[in-house]
Amino acid sequence: MDAIIKTGNKAVYPIIFPSDYSGLGSINCYVYQNGEDYTLIDAGIKNEGFEQFFYRKLKEYNIEINQITGIILTHFHNDHIGVVNQITNDYRIPVYASEIAIPRLKCEDDYLQQKLSFYYDLYEQYGVPEFARERMAKMENTLQNKEQVMIYPPIMKLEDGQAIGGLRVMTAPGHSPDSICLFDEETGWLFAGDFLLATGMTNALIDHDESGDITNPISQYIDSIEKIKAYNVRTVFAGHKEIYENLNEVMEKSLSKIEYKLQKVVSKISEGNHTAKQLGDAIYGARFAKYFTFIISEIIGLTLLAEQRGLIVRELRGGDWCFSVTSLIDQ
Ligand SMILES: [Zn+2]
Repeated sequence: MDAIIKTGNKAVYPIIFPSDYSGLGSINCYVYQNGEDYTLIDAGIKNEGFEQFFYRKLKEYNIEINQITGIILTHFHNDHIGVVNQITNDYRIPVYASEIAIPRLKCEDDYLQQKLSFYYDLYEQYGVPEFARERMAKMENTLQNKEQVMIYPPIMKLEDGQAIGGLRVMTAPGHSPDSICLFDEETGWLFAGDFLLATGMTNALIDHDESGDITNPISQYIDSIEKIKAYNVRTVFAGHKEIYENLNEVMEKSLSKIEYKLQKVVSKISEGNHTAKQLGDAIYGARFAKYFTFIISEIIGLTLLAEQRGLIVRELRGGDWCFSVTSLIDQ
């Protein structure tokens, strides 16, 4: 049994499901107790293995499912929402998420259409449509079969700074545009979702905003780190990997990884790799095709950051983005 973390009338009951999902080692969610309130923070992945594990853990912790008073989702990704429909089908409890998460969780048609055309254009412009076929087929499939993946109960929106059940909501975009963290000021507990994993892995994924425009996720991620730095965090409960206490170290590691990767991309561009495809091949070789979605997302994110910092410029050549290093003479 994973250790229960307790302080006064508050407790965290970790539900750490071992899984090689996306190479992340585990899929985590937590029951946060504040007196009589039991809030489920995230809800795992929708499959039988997770569901059995989830109910077994609750039993081990002596928590009845009808003691859970609410569910908060840190972001919309499918490895965080697994048992929401099942729980709320049996018990009418409130479900909360950031406002940006709601159309995504509800699989609203407008959102799904926007998402589809965003990614078609994106992969076209970055010159990698042939690699993206599998991902796009999956997205088309979601649009056709959304009732299998959508969240059914009403979702209430959470705003930055809002207090809920003893926790403070903090928007922390970067991993996804809708990411939030939940902070218990009294205990220093931070429920971080996928924003800050113990390894300092920078998993800032390309996405789009409500108008369908591309986000600058790594830049957002850096800003979110700066924001969290101002708080006195003792323990981090993340969406994957282990619970940890060295947040400052993890944040520094994450920031230095970003700087390292940024320099690498800029130097590969200066060596003559001008397109996203050339950069993917030059930096990742055979792994590029295998982990296409994550790698292309990272390359696009790094080029956006490099451009924001004035290190590179881009132009459309034959419909594809081409990058070049800003010449020193121009500066
Ligand atoms: Zn996740």
